[in-house]
Amino acid sequence: MQQSKIGFYGHVKQYHNLKAEIDQAILEVLESGSYVLGPQLAKFEEELARYMNVQDAVGVNSGTDALLLVFLALGLGPGDEVITTSNTFFATAEAIWLSGATPVFVDSDPKTRNMDVTKIEAATTSRTRAIVPVHLYGLTANMPEIAKIAKTHGLFVVEDCAQAIGARGDRFTIGEMSDAVCLSFIIQKNLGCFGDGGAVATHNKELATEVRKLRNHGSLKRSHHSVGYNSRLDDLHAAVLGVKLKHVDEWSERRRQIARLYDKGLAGAPTALPVTPPGYEHVYHLYVIESADRDGLQAYLDSKGITALTHYPIAIHQQEGFPWGRPARVTALPVTENSAASVLSLPMYPELTDKEVERVIEELLNWAANREALSQRAV
Ligand SMILES: *Cc1c(COP(=O)(O)O)cnc(C)c1O
Repeated sequence: MQQSKIGFYGHVKQYHNLKAEIDQAILEVLESGSYVLGPQLAKFEEELARYMNVQDAVGVNSGTDALLLVFLALGLGPGDEVITTSNTFFATAEAIWLSGATPVFVDSDPKTRNMDVTKIEAATTSRTRAIVPVHLYGLTANMPEIAKIAKTHGLFVVEDCAQAIGARGDRFTIGEMSDAVCLSFIIQKNLGCFGDGGAVATHNKELATEVRKLRNHGSLKRSHHSVGYNSRLDDLHAAVLGVKLKHVDEWSERRRQIARLYDKGLAGAPTALPVTPPGYEHVYHLYVIESADRDGLQAYLDSKGITALTHYPIAIHQQEGFPWGRPARVTALPVTENSAASVLSLPMYPELTDKEVERVIEELLNWAANREALSQRAV
């Protein structure tokens, strides 16, 4: 019997589940005639600020621009160093480069794969201005420790929260211990619109105003206070995001349910499973396992109609696009490099059925049994 395929994303199913609400929200924007910096954007910004429990939220064009505009608003530029991780999507470092500053990478924690906070102190210099942790795969970074180091050295903290809306730490929330939180709403993120989108969430009203200027050609009303960008979140996207924001927590809960099924089903498999520190609430943007034979496993799953992807197969400091012409300090990052060679993201989205999750587990266990049989024959 031909099994149906299990893809990596569920956003078309998600749209079908909310079709009536989403279609109506879109039609209302079309009829309103307000498409840019209109009432839907203002409404979504208020809802997002409330959801994130911060003073203000500013919609922008993308998660990348959210980072870049915050860096510029904070006055980062050439000569400044920003401590971050190489185990992330390229955009985290790219936004630092685009601001004119230089990323300085510290290695990842061998358990959580988030920034290894024990490595930050040694990476600081007199040029360090900011720390940019990434809440990788939907797991909050160790913010209390990061905030402590930042305070000692007088550094800004900007959270790259592109993958972790709705996540929580152990007795702390995202946004509580930083200058700004940067979000991405590209469709594959846990809260996604039908295109590109992003936002900055912050307690700092002045910073929010500065980002509002920068996203709109340096302008708040009529006059231009500075040179800026064209980086606004369209009202169409804002309306869709407003509908979906109400469902984010229930989707996160379903993601955690799926993670528990994977955790249980794969407990005996020869793969490393994701680790959540006590008290943290993971939102499983990705469910990432590790295997020494990652490529073999990925190909096997693919042959069974199951799509698994790699996040990220090449660390940023090893990318061809790394701007070597620019000043950079790159030290050995063994944990990050090991991740790049071994990580595999299994299908993870709220619309996955238990049956589909069970099939992924079954095929992964089949792969492990085949490998064991092969290695015994070789002896
Ligand atoms: C997606 C992502 C970004 C960039 O967001 P865009 O909206 O695609 O520009 C930045 N950082 C991380 C960690 C991401 O996953």
